Amino acid sequence: PLAFLNDPSLLKTDALIDGQWVQGDSRFDVDDPATGLKLADVPNLGAADAERAVRAANAAWPAWRAKTAKQRHAILLKWYELLMAHSEDLARIMTAEQGKPFAEAKGEVGYAASFVEWFAEEAKRANGETLPQFDSTRRLMVLKQPVGVCAAITPWNFPLAMITRKVAPALAAGCPVVIKPAELTPLTALAAAELAVRAGIPAGVLNVITADSANSIAVGKLLCASDVVRHLSFTGSTEVGRILMAQSAPTVKKISLELGGNAPFIVFDDADIDSAVEGAIASKYRNAGQTCVCANRIYVQDGVYEQFVQKFAARVQALTVGNGFEDGVVQGPLIEPAALDKVQRHLDDALAKGGRVVAGGARLEGQFFQPTVVADANADMLCAREETFGPFAPVFRFQTEQQAIDAANDTEFGLASYFYSRDVGRIFRVAEALEYGMVGINAGVIASEHVPFGGVKQSGLGREGSHHGMDDYLELKYLCLGDI
Ligand code: ADP
Repeated sequence: PLAFLNDPSLLKTDALIDGQWVQGDSRFDVDDPATGLKLADVPNLGAADAERAVRAANAAWPAWRAKTAKQRHAILLKWYELLMAHSEDLARIMTAEQGKPFAEAKGEVGYAASFVEWFAEEAKRANGETLPQFDSTRRLMVLKQPVGVCAAITPWNFPLAMITRKVAPALAAGCPVVIKPAELTPLTALAAAELAVRAGIPAGVLNVITADSANSIAVGKLLCASDVVRHLSFTGSTEVGRILMAQSAPTVKKISLELGGNAPFIVFDDADIDSAVEGAIASKYRNAGQTCVCANRIYVQDGVYEQFVQKFAARVQALTVGNGFEDGVVQGPLIEPAALDKVQRHLDDALAKGGRVVAGGARLEGQFFQPTVVADANADMLCAREETFGPFAPVFRFQTEQQAIDAANDTEFGLASYFYSRDVGRIFRVAEALEYGMVGINAGVIASEHVPFGGVKQSGLGREGSHHGMDDYLELKYLCLGDI
């Protein structure tokens, strides 16, 4: 699939350190999850290379922070324009290595680029403050300054957007970055880095360290232990997030974490059922269920339960599964065999505990799984507690509003939640009661560059996107000027 790029030079297969493309001593393969075929190989770098990148970033920091906000704005805007101009190629690379349908990949490129555009603009608005003095001989001010070298460890499910959402605010704030992309999807990251170079981001300001899963652990340790790295941003599993947080304790590093979810999707009796069905489809089956904000548990009130299940199952059965490059395909392969195993485990467990398959229910040849719906789900099932991260939707039944709220909140996670209702009182009661960082009300897809994305409880720390998204990359410095 990568033979047909409009601009073949976007297929970068080397890492980027200090403005130099680095081959590395050893390499690892990047495969197409739809076919199992090798696409390319990339450098398998280790701690020493990461150290070199951190030093290069630190050396590049003074000149980068010394640029005016408007100069950084102009470079970021150029990067945004290049990402958009090459969106077809970027989407092609993404579908090839990640598997999502090509139209969805193009959507992600636009979404990813929107963070660069947004933070290019925000660069100019990192305003400080002047404060009322507590004594007439003094004047008080607050400066905002870049934190320093930032590290970003990113996942495979959004190979581009999870990079730009971290890197764009860091760069806008005046920080250099070291990116460690997911080992399953490094090619999208490298293509974006090539465009960053073309946009004029100076050597050392943006570095990309590729590493396989074993070396990613070593690179992660180095980045956490480094006292030059002042901020670590991670998107991925809660399990790895906890490890990185612990590893960052000795250097008291600032951290932003966007971790797992266990999103409830609640449909009340008074909902518009057709709209709820469409919302559930979009929320659950996007990226084959492999997003941290995908509906994981669908709760439907007794009075509309059978109606919802029937309509939902019919829509799910009509979803076309296949290679993301084929026309009409809306669900691609899962990322790796372990992902299929997890879906199967959740399905088997649900069936053993009284679940009823109403759509799909089978693994297909290769790394594909039928979009699946199981009715009569209950709280004892694994899928009630764990994030499935695949195309499997359990539908639970509830009677009262309070039962739905209690069930929704009965988890250590708190990222996205959704509910459907047309009752204005209920909308406020439920929205306020859900212990989640984000609530979609009569909406199944809610992310955008200008809203604060993030979770509470064990779903993470900090918010990405919006005018709050630069806060993590800026230090406040209080100045007290006396003897006026
Ligand atoms: P997922 O469950 O989405 O695969 P992971 O949390 O396993 O997410 O991985 C997300 C990112 O974290 C990837 O870039 C991966 O290489 C990296 N990673 C995984 N384990 C570690 C670790 N122990 N230290 C540093 N990075 C890690």
